[in-house]
Amino acid sequence: MAQCPNLDHQKENPDSVTAEIGVEGIEALPKRVERYGKAKKGALDIAEYMRAETEHQAMAAKVIGCGDYLQFRHFFTVDTVRLHAAQFCKKHLLCPLCAIRRGAKALSAYLARWHTIQAQKPALRPFLVTLTVKDGPDLLERFQHLKKSQQELWMQKHRGRGSSFDDIEGAVWSYEVKRGQCSGIWHPHLHMIALSEIQPDAEQLSREWHKITGDSFIVDVRPISQDDPVSGFIEVFKYAVKFSDQEPADTVHAWETLKGKRLLASSGCFRGVDVPEELTDDSSDLESLPFMDMLYRYTFGGYSLQHRTPVQQNAPCFPGFAQKRIHAKGKAPDPRKPSYTRADFIALYRQMQLEKMGHGR
Ligand SMILES: [Zn+2]
Repeated sequence: MAQCPNLDHQKENPDSVTAEIGVEGIEALPKRVERYGKAKKGALDIAEYMRAETEHQAMAAKVIGCGDYLQFRHFFTVDTVRLHAAQFCKKHLLCPLCAIRRGAKALSAYLARWHTIQAQKPALRPFLVTLTVKDGPDLLERFQHLKKSQQELWMQKHRGRGSSFDDIEGAVWSYEVKRGQCSGIWHPHLHMIALSEIQPDAEQLSREWHKITGDSFIVDVRPISQDDPVSGFIEVFKYAVKFSDQEPADTVHAWETLKGKRLLASSGCFRGVDVPEELTDDSSDLESLPFMDMLYRYTFGGYSLQHRTPVQQNAPCFPGFAQKRIHAKGKAPDPRKPSYTRADFIALYRQMQLEKMGHGR
């Protein structure tokens, strides 16, 4: 029976994640804020749908409040803008804003590991491997089928009886779910970055995969450009669901089905990569530099700048000195001290309100 070739290489929102990488100057901030505004709008649409269901109202409220305010910090002497503080819902299966930030964090962490591996083992090359299973009406059943089949593929390599994965020294993969273009029913699949000196044999892999799954021989193997690895890596670190392509009901169903499940996994030399949980940017490398803060607020379909602080000077950070203790309370930012906690975010907002009332400094 012919299968619909659901090999999805048409990336829906890759730019949202890739645009997060490597562009940090103040000129890039308006586009960055616009990108976040669109994502926040998407989150509000989903939350609005969820509010109609009593059981989802609490979660809807959490998503609605995600990213209401964004505090950016501009280290102007090196023209670097970092997202210093924001309140995120961290529901990346429901919220496009959190999905962008989470995807970018993972992409950045794995690219850094790839560059380290590349320096140590220059003969290794990255390949993008895609594995699919036959579409089906039950998302959970299809997801588990895909996951178990993928595990069996690795088991065959470990049994040492000859596998198309024999030469793979490291891999990182993620699951993606959407409705099939031809079938209209659930089409889970996975994208993998596989590191190997020689390209995995797609025909052998297809045969092995069909034997394991019993329902799909659709696989794809293609080299990733070493000059532009992001274009291949993004397949693994883009959104797990296609927010704008699917009905809110499908987004909510995918969240209910997949929440708490591990959707990003790794093996071999890609194991142990630390992806930060925090969705704001880490500014610890710039902590001694002067900066200005900018507070954006989401109103009427987009973010607008509400407040900009005067120049502040970070004091040197002494080893072992607990920064959280310095700013444990939401006092106005002290220009003589480092400023890294959420309390500063609150303080900045308070200061902005005071200035509006004519009580600012
Ligand atoms: Zn969110």
